Formats: sequence, C-alpha cells, structure tokens
Amino acid sequence: LVKTVSVAFPVPLRKNFSYSVPEELQETARRGSRARAPFGGRLLAGVIVEEDPPVPEALPLRPLAEVLDEEPALDQELLGATQALAERFFSPWGELLRAALPSSLPAPEAARFEITAAGAAALSLAGEPERRILEALLGQGKLRASEIPGPRREVHRALQEMESRRWVRTAAGRTPRSRGTVTTVAAIPLDEAAARRAAGSSRRAREALAWLADLGRPATAEEMRHRGFSAAVLRRLAGVGAVSVSEQERQGEPAVFEIGGDAGADLELSPAQKDALAVLAGAIQERRFVPALLYGVTGSGKTEVYLRAIACALESGRGAVWLVPEIALTPVFARSLARRFGPKAVVLHSALAERERATAWKAMKGGRARVVIGPRSAVFSPIPDIGLFVVDEEHDGSYKQEESPRYDARDAAALRARAQSAALVLGSATPSLETFHAAEEGRIRLLALPERIEKRPLPEVFLVDLRKEEARPDEKGIPLFSRSLRERLAEVFGRGEQAILLVPRRGYAPYLLCRDCGNDFRCDACSVARAVHRRRHSMICHYCGSVRAKPSRCDRCGGCLLETIGAGTERAAERFAELFPGVRHAILDADTARQRGAAASVIASMEEGRIQALIGTQMVAKGHHFENVTAIGVLSADTLLNFPDFRAAEKTFQLIAQAAGRSGRGSRAGTVHVQTFHPDNSALRCAVEHDATGFARRELVFRRMFLYPPFCEMASLLISSADRERAATLAAEFSRRFEGIGDLRVSGSAPAPLERLKGRWRFQILLRSRSRRTILSALEAVVPETPPAGCQVAAVVDPRNLM
Ligand SMILES: [Zn+2]
Ligand SMILES: [Zn+2]
Repeated sequence: LVKTVSVAFPVPLRKNFSYSVPEELQETARRGSRARAPFGGRLLAGVIVEEDPPVPEALPLRPLAEVLDEEPALDQELLGATQALAERFFSPWGELLRAALPSSLPAPEAARFEITAAGAAALSLAGEPERRILEALLGQGKLRASEIPGPRREVHRALQEMESRRWVRTAAGRTPRSRGTVTTVAAIPLDEAAARRAAGSSRRAREALAWLADLGRPATAEEMRHRGFSAAVLRRLAGVGAVSVSEQERQGEPAVFEIGGDAGADLELSPAQKDALAVLAGAIQERRFVPALLYGVTGSGKTEVYLRAIACALESGRGAVWLVPEIALTPVFARSLARRFGPKAVVLHSALAERERATAWKAMKGGRARVVIGPRSAVFSPIPDIGLFVVDEEHDGSYKQEESPRYDARDAAALRARAQSAALVLGSATPSLETFHAAEEGRIRLLALPERIEKRPLPEVFLVDLRKEEARPDEKGIPLFSRSLRERLAEVFGRGEQAILLVPRRGYAPYLLCRDCGNDFRCDACSVARAVHRRRHSMICHYCGSVRAKPSRCDRCGGCLLETIGAGTERAAERFAELFPGVRHAILDADTARQRGAAASVIASMEEGRIQALIGTQMVAKGHHFENVTAIGVLSADTLLNFPDFRAAEKTFQLIAQAAGRSGRGSRAGTVHVQTFHPDNSALRCAVEHDATGFARRELVFRRMFLYPPFCEMASLLISSADRERAATLAAEFSRRFEGIGDLRVSGSAPAPLERLKGRWRFQILLRSRSRRTILSALEAVVPETPPAGCQVAAVVDPRNLM
C-alpha cells in the first residue's frame, strides 16, 4: 500500500492537498512534520496534517519532495488547536500553522553542528552514541545531522540532548560570524558642523547619524540594517570617525533569562488573592479545565496571583503561558518572571530577531524553558503539558489578529487550556463585555480582587471640561493643557514625583491644512490626511505608511499659509517643554517601540527616575508599574469616544481606567485629569466613579437591545478593489445572497468607515446572528475560495475593529 499524506500550506485557501510518499520518506513523513511538495509550479513548504487521508482511488497523486523534520515540529494538541481556530475564524489552517512556528526554525537537516569546548572536555566521559558523534565533529569540524554515521533518529536525539548540555551547538548556516558575538555601533558625539562634514554629501549617512543620536544608545548592526542603513553607510561613518563599531560577546542566549531570586515571592497574599490562587492551583494540580475571570482593579495584585499560579504549575511539573498585550509590556513583566523563575522563563515578542525566536522555541519544545511570556503568538508555545494559560489585560484588542491568519489569542488559549486540562485566567480591571457577561452567567469562574493591595486608595479622577478652557491661538480651539492639569503637574514635579501624559496620536500633528484652499494633504492611496512628523521631517500616512517630505507650499494652490492642526505626541512634548522647562521627559509610542530596545530603555528611565514625565499614546496606559507616578493627564478623551464603532464607549472606559491604574501605585495618592468636550458622557462618568461593573451592566443593556456582541455572533466582510464600481457591485451581490439565511441580520453593503486604503476602495457588510454556525455556514456558502479578478474579500469573524 502506498502511503499518502495531506499537507496544509500557508496560502489563502481553506483546504489541504494530498501527496503520495516516496519510499525513502516513509519513516519521517508524519503528522505535524514540515514538508515540501510541488504546489502549482514550485516547491512549497507546509505541514503534514493527516496521514493516509481518504483519497479517491483513481486520482494520481504527486509525490512529496522532502520532509524537513526528523521529529514532528507540532504535536497532536497544537495541530488540533490550530485546526479548530481555523474553523472558528474562517481562516486557512496552513496560515495558522505557520503562525504557530517560528519561520526560521532551522530544519535539522539544514543545521550544521559543531563541538564546543565543554563537548571536547566531556568526550572521555560520554557514552554511546554521543562519543562517536563528538569524535566525528572533532575530526571533521561542522557537520549536518545527515552526515554523521548511525541511525538518523538516534543521531538526531543525541544531538538535541548534547545541544541542551551545550556540548555541541548549531553553527550558523550562512553567516560566517559565530552567533556568540554581536556588532554594535555607537555614535561618537560631534558638534553639528563636524557631523555634517563627517556625513558629507550622503543623505543616508546624515539620517543614520540623526537616528543614532535620537536612539541615545548604541545600536546593533542588525538594527541598522533593519532601518535600511547599508553596510556601506556604516563603513563610511566609521571611516571618518563619526561612529565606533565594536564586536561584543552576546550575554548568554538573548531570549532566555539567567537571573534568580526575588523578594515578591515571600509577600503575604490578601485573602482575595489567596482564594483566587486556590482555585487556579486546584485546577492545575487536579488537571481540570477551569476558565476564570480574575477581575480586580489596577493595583489589586493580579500579577502576584499570576506569578504564584505559574510557580504552582512548575511545582506540579507542568508549564505555563503568560500572554500580554503589547510589546512594550513584555520587558516589564519579563523582569518579574526572570527574577522569580530564572532560566526556566523565555520571552517572545515581535521585535525579536528570527534566530532568537527559534532559540526560544527550541528551548520550550525541548523542555528547558517551562514558562513563556509574550504577545498573542506566544499562545502557540510548544511547551509540553501546559497547566496554566494567563491572558493578562484580556480586554485588549491586540489579542485579535486582524490580518490573515485571523484568530483571537483568547480563543486559542481557551481551546488549548481545555485540551490540556489546564487553568485559564483572563485578567482585567475592565473586562471585555463578552468575558464579563460569561462570568455573570456563570460560564466562567469569577475571581474578584476588590481592593488595591495595602488598601491604597484609587486615584481621584477629574473630568476637565475643555469648552471652558481658553485655547492658545496656535491650538486652534483645542487646548492641549488645561489650567487644572498644568497646576497639578507643577505640584507633582515640584515634589519630585512623576507624571504620565496620554496623547491619542503619534507624530507632531494629525494633519496639515492649507488656509487658502483647505487642502489637508491626503494620502494618495487612503482616504485620510497624512500626519506631520517632526522627528522624521516628513508627513506619514498612518494607515499605509507612505512618507513624503513636508511641503513649504500647498501643492494644490501654491499658498504658503500651512498650519499644523491638532496635536500628536511630538507636539505635546514640545508644548510640555515650554510649560515645564528643565523637567526631563520622553516619548513612548509606536515610533519608539519600533526600534528594538528603545521602549524598554524609556520604561527603565522612568522606573529609575531619570525622566519625570512620560508622554505617549495608549501604550503608556498599559501595565506599567511606576511607584512614583502620581498624576495622569488624558489630553483628549474624545478621539476614541468619537470612533464609529459600537465598542467606542467600552474602549474609552477601558483606556481611562487603565491610565488611572498607573497613578498612585506607591504610597502617595494619585490623580487623573481627563480632558474632554463631552463631560456628560456616561462612559466618562463611570470612569470617574471607578465603576467598571456599573459601566458593563449599562453597556450590556444597550448591546442586548441593539443585538451586538455578546448577545450575537458577528462577522464583517470587507470587499475591496482598486476599481470602486467593481467593489461596490460585488458587495451588493454578496449582500443579496446573504439575505434569508437563517436568522442572519445583514447590514450593508456600504462604504467602510475608512473608504479608501492603500489605493483600494473598501465596502463593508456586517453579519449578525445568534448562532456562530449560521455565520460560518453563510460565509462558506457566499464567499468564494478565490475572489473575482481585481477584488479582495476579507471575512473577519468577531471583528474588533470596524474601520
Ligand atoms: Zn492650498
Ligand atoms: Zn495611506
């Protein structure tokens, strides 16, 4: 009998493909292994998802070309979880499988091994087959697993074992430099004239110097490359003495921590913390699936409960996964993890280099790392026997991946926790209405932490009515710093305390306006104005990223009365510097976070008191624990409130509550000033009262009345095309075909709130039903596997963002 397999490829198709298995691949072609196979006119790598699938007899199958793993990279549980997610979110399974694996995970066949000093020293002590392999490596230098004599599986296992003991290491494939060193580039301080001379006529060299100066720390060569600065630019700058380049030893494996000991582990828990921990510990030890909402105001000690529950999982011989929303948060929690769990903890985040990610993945898969912290994709951790999944700040929108493969990490965590009989903690001070409702209905356990630890009072929240404030002429009617906020900040800085200022947008100003003709310098490809960025001397579309120089004259009418309207983080910082000269501050936003290590260094400056004020976007509102922060200013609550989204009130409430949670975490009471033109808004009023439960109950009444989640299942269908007419026609046709399916409610087709994006016209259809099955089968029936020429169709189940 000829063996056959079915392979899922990372392509936008919701089906798998069958192949026959040639004789020599029979042993390794197993479910969960990666393989290459002919697909269209090329060889494509995918994951074997089924062995001997039912195949029509007559069909001649093409043969599999290559198996990339000796042992399956994914186990049954992860295969099952990704498959269920694919169905749940109407996503291609192959794309979810790709998301679950680090892309550069070296296939064992490709990796070359070399012996280390420790390996050479261990040679005389080693048993078989280790000794034989070490001798081969000692004699012949770098070898692939397949070049080492002996049964393949035995060789492979021995290599893995010796790698974890550091007797052997994988030699970097193509780069000649050993992975033990890293090249760093530091700017040598020059005065402006000298810097100009050094950079000469090269624009890129000037930009590289400016970037390094902005960064305020040495960059790695990899970062420079990532920013688009070529090796030639680097050589030039080094040649004229503008930068110094040095090779440094990497400090251990970069993603794996090596620190131990932490004082927090001895703290006495509050009774509420103890109760919550007892529920989780019971589930972990008795291997029961227990989903729970850990509902506690900020500062109530949720993190300590997570850490103790993780310790409990480790003591029970199980692993733990801790999801956090933003990359800026990872370093903060990573330090707590590292202090408590040392080398057993690994950190994943999107700024990690692929090689580091692969290292961390292997440490988890091999059982050396038992705890992982990271954003959404960390939910696919290959740690064996996970006993605890933590989803911190579960209400955060970043758990939902909006581009393909679409999935929600909370659903992924729930699926995996159920399959592994593990505890699942969804933690929040302001739970999503879906989770809140599930807890009220008793579908998940409610673990409440009603008080801040040490009974610290919640900060006092003030709504500042911007209608009563006087704006400066250049503020165009929107005052940036109200009088009461200014007074409060002066008081705080005078006492040596710190403040956080939340500005909804990054850059200098949301747009530039020509006073003569009203031109707002829209992006050529999107229906939004470009934002003005001062640091980069440019105008940037925040939707497609396209950049142009900031003009000095209007390109429509030639007028030169151009005004920057509104304020982003840069302008708020500029105004701040005028108001509080000498108060050190820094910006934290997506522009900062994009530079590897920069967000962590800003956060460290804040923690260590080197800066007194942090100015940033929503990122500053999340998770941080700064003991000395006693004032928060939300410069405008209205940007979020005015969003065309049924979740606008929920998101605004959550943001303010999160921001408030940053204030007064130490021994002094804190304040929050929320500036708004709508001081009567009920979400804002609930925020003043710190009344998350009241807000949720009120909002649920509205959701039930108008049939919105959690009282229905929802999907959005986005139809786009460069040709407006074509998109409109297809959307109208879909909309017609959805009519009359079950209890389906169809809204649209209508232009999406963001009608044009990256040169494409976008139309939206919203589907609502009481049953998820109805939504999925309606999508299955109407949405074609391949959209008509020139059109794109994106089906988003559970959309978090309706732009
Ligand atoms: Zn003009
Ligand atoms: Zn654009």
